[in-house]
Amino acid sequence: MNEQPAQASNPPAHTYDFDLIVIGGGSGGVRCARMAARLGVRVACIESRFWGGTCVNVGCVPKKLYAIGSAFSTSVARARGFGWEVQEPSLRWEHLQAAVHKEVNRLSGVYDNILDSAGVTRLWGKASLAGKHKVEVDGRVITAQFIVIATGAHSRIPNLPGIEHTITSDGFFAMQNKPARAIVIGGGYIAVELASILAAAGSEVTILYRGETVLRGFDDEVREHLQGVLQARGIRILTHAQVASIDKAESGYRVTFAPDAGVHGVAIEADCVINATGRTPNSASLNLGAAEIEPDGSGAISVDEHFRTSTPNIFAVGDVLHRMQLTPVALAEGMYVAHYLFGKKAPAPIQYGCVASTVFSQPQVASVGLTEQACMVRGRKFRVYRSRFTPMQQVFANRQEKTFLKMLVDDASDVVLGIHIIGDDAGEIMQGFAAAMVCGATKAQLDATIGIHPTIAEELVTMREVSETVDPLS
Ligand SMILES: Cc1cc2nc3c(=O)[nH]c(=O)nc-3n(C[C@H](O)[C@H](O)[C@H](O)COP(=O)(O)OP(=O)(O)OC[C@H]3O[C@@H](n4cnc5c(N)ncnc54)[C@H](O)[C@@H]3O)c2cc1C
Repeated sequence: MNEQPAQASNPPAHTYDFDLIVIGGGSGGVRCARMAARLGVRVACIESRFWGGTCVNVGCVPKKLYAIGSAFSTSVARARGFGWEVQEPSLRWEHLQAAVHKEVNRLSGVYDNILDSAGVTRLWGKASLAGKHKVEVDGRVITAQFIVIATGAHSRIPNLPGIEHTITSDGFFAMQNKPARAIVIGGGYIAVELASILAAAGSEVTILYRGETVLRGFDDEVREHLQGVLQARGIRILTHAQVASIDKAESGYRVTFAPDAGVHGVAIEADCVINATGRTPNSASLNLGAAEIEPDGSGAISVDEHFRTSTPNIFAVGDVLHRMQLTPVALAEGMYVAHYLFGKKAPAPIQYGCVASTVFSQPQVASVGLTEQACMVRGRKFRVYRSRFTPMQQVFANRQEKTFLKMLVDDASDVVLGIHIIGDDAGEIMQGFAAAMVCGATKAQLDATIGIHPTIAEELVTMREVSETVDPLS
């Protein structure tokens, strides 16, 4: 074990029931438990809702399947331009919902087997801490030398009159009929993804967002470009909208909101209202105080660079940290802790700066590295490269959407600082460029790469013209 916390005042490890107890059987918890068991230690993993956690059951997997399923309407529209005679398509939502449900159940079952075959003891029930080495589950107390908290997060429920009339992303995946009209409250990635799915499926969709432009935290130009494209695809986006209440209407629901500070009483109606206003860490029912751990105001658990909490034998990974809420990040953190505690050599630190992510809106947004705004804060001169063009898939379509690519490069070292793409398959394109960035790729190295022609991706190795050079200090 590497740099383990001193355990002098505690009994030796073999007097504990387990070497490691992992609370939470989602992405981070399952990965941590499996890896630790493979390293030969006795591990228990506790889950209270669904093995596989958010990603498999109510997150990435069903979301991506719905995105794929709904996006065929765009393919059909494009196909007409290429000469296909296709009737007006219509989606049988109940078919899609049932198919996704079946696949999710299959995958969740795979997680049972993964843990069993790794030799992890699976326990079912809501776990809480009963001391620094004690966990209570289902009325029983079990002990371990180390504990990992991997309890994830849940949809934030704002304190609004009538919020009980809304559904969250969990409810979205359970929806058996497609709403004719939907309101999505929120402007984060889950909000735009669910809005895109519904719009592509043929619903009339309104996003109510209290900010100016959706996708806060992403590059400003990317946000503006995406917002324009979503609007062009028929999604109504009402910004600066402060929701005041949700009521039952004669048919469906009425959302009352203030369109601007000081103005009240504007109301719109829909058959379904989706609350997508952020995610809150699952820490409230963990009885953290029993182990002298204090979450912050948002419920997030603080950890050091080895994911150790303020109590040295207790670690935390994944969404409960409220940092980068992504499955591959939770997996990497879970694996890191298993190796840190029980591996032969210290694991390499996780390179958060090069984590690529994709918003599965329609079209997709993929990003890696810094935004232009973050480059400004960094304070060193940088170059901006931009490209906007109509991709071949679109050339014969009535609606010609531009693909947008942006690259930020440190002027002195030529190192690529950030890449942003809006367009078809942006996520698939970005993964390879993220690997290049982990290797410290320079613009000159990308320029030396021969493109694959004709593709969208080749644009990123043929961006010769500097759009502008920015000196944040001037
Ligand atoms: C709609 C949606 C779409 C998403 N899409 C993407 C995407 O495309 N790409 C991506 O990378 N990420 C996506 N995410 C985020 C991703 O799902 C999470 O980052 C990831 O699941 C975090 O893993 P985790 O292990 O920290 O938590 P989780 O996977 O949430 O697992 C935590 C587990 O702990 C259990 N648990 C909680 N409290 C207790 C307790 N007291 N006792 C026992 N068990 C407990 C929960 O039931 C849960 O199963 C999406 C999330 C949502 C909601």
